[in-house]
Amino acid sequence: MVATSRERRADVFQDIEPDSYCNDFAWVEPDPEDRVLVYRGASVLAAPAPRADAGAAPASADRVEGDTASSAPVGQTLVFPTYGLLEDAGAIGPDSAEGGIARADGEHPSALFLFTVGDEAYFRCEVDDEALDELLSDASAGDSDRAPAWRFVPISELRDHGSRSRAFAGFVGYEYDSWYVTRRFCGRCGAALVHDLVERMVRCPQCGCMEFPKLFPAVIVGIVDRETDRVLVSRYAGREYKRYALIAGFCEMGETVEETVHREVKEEVGLAVKNLRYYRSQPWPPSSSLLFGFFCDLDGSDAITLDEHELEHAEWLDRADLPADDGHSLTRDMMRVLRERSEERFPATSLPF
Ligand SMILES: [Zn+2]
Repeated sequence: MVATSRERRADVFQDIEPDSYCNDFAWVEPDPEDRVLVYRGASVLAAPAPRADAGAAPASADRVEGDTASSAPVGQTLVFPTYGLLEDAGAIGPDSAEGGIARADGEHPSALFLFTVGDEAYFRCEVDDEALDELLSDASAGDSDRAPAWRFVPISELRDHGSRSRAFAGFVGYEYDSWYVTRRFCGRCGAALVHDLVERMVRCPQCGCMEFPKLFPAVIVGIVDRETDRVLVSRYAGREYKRYALIAGFCEMGETVEETVHREVKEEVGLAVKNLRYYRSQPWPPSSSLLFGFFCDLDGSDAITLDEHELEHAEWLDRADLPADDGHSLTRDMMRVLRERSEERFPATSLPF
């Protein structure tokens, strides 16, 4: 039996139903109430949502409706600044070639459309840092007419703040932002790149080099030993993340994702696997990766040979001992499937291994 999307729980960060994500590229002018995603490092400008239900008057430039897409909020729901707010604060700009948004037709629009999530449209703008700092100091001084408590929130904390849809927007916006800020100059000739007029791409006006958004495909692998009914778990070496993980790795050039599964499992723990079953995928914006989740069976010896460069530890664990915490990640979601012994419901790949 094949699981349907209806059976899935909203365990992974991109599960934003009933909202949906649309990133069809277009040059459109932002409305004052559209949202702007502003990043400093890996943090995004945001403020607590006005508590309309508590009778408090929302800040005029930043009225938001109830957040129907959120499940039980852990913290207070956040909102991102509107274009109108930043424009009024004089924080939109510069619109010149020096750091501005330059288009292939020579225009310098003040905003670049990123995507919509639900009924909110999100833009990227060049921002005047001085004016923005002034807005932030108004916020810290409690000038709530001009700004609620605007601050830069680490993207890793967005998921703790109520709205799945806004956390998704802030998280994915970071991936766009990271791509745009590292695509200012041509990698071949060094000229300043310009934005294409019809698709999400930057091009070199001098040598014609084209740069499209980059993604790194990777696999996450849940390995089951059918003889002992145990699952292979690991811990990464040299990272702060010390919880149990599954085997994971990036695809290499010239390789299929199925081949990546076999190679990574062999490299990291010295095991052979068979009966690959594709589960689902998950974008992971912090590293611009697209993760493909596979389940598979051990093929042969269960003796682990650890790649100590990659992993600190690996072991076979009883299904009941798999961690049950909700990490909104594909790894945690796959561990849930393994704990529930339901991985065989997902389709075997058509390849003979
Ligand atoms: Zn060039």
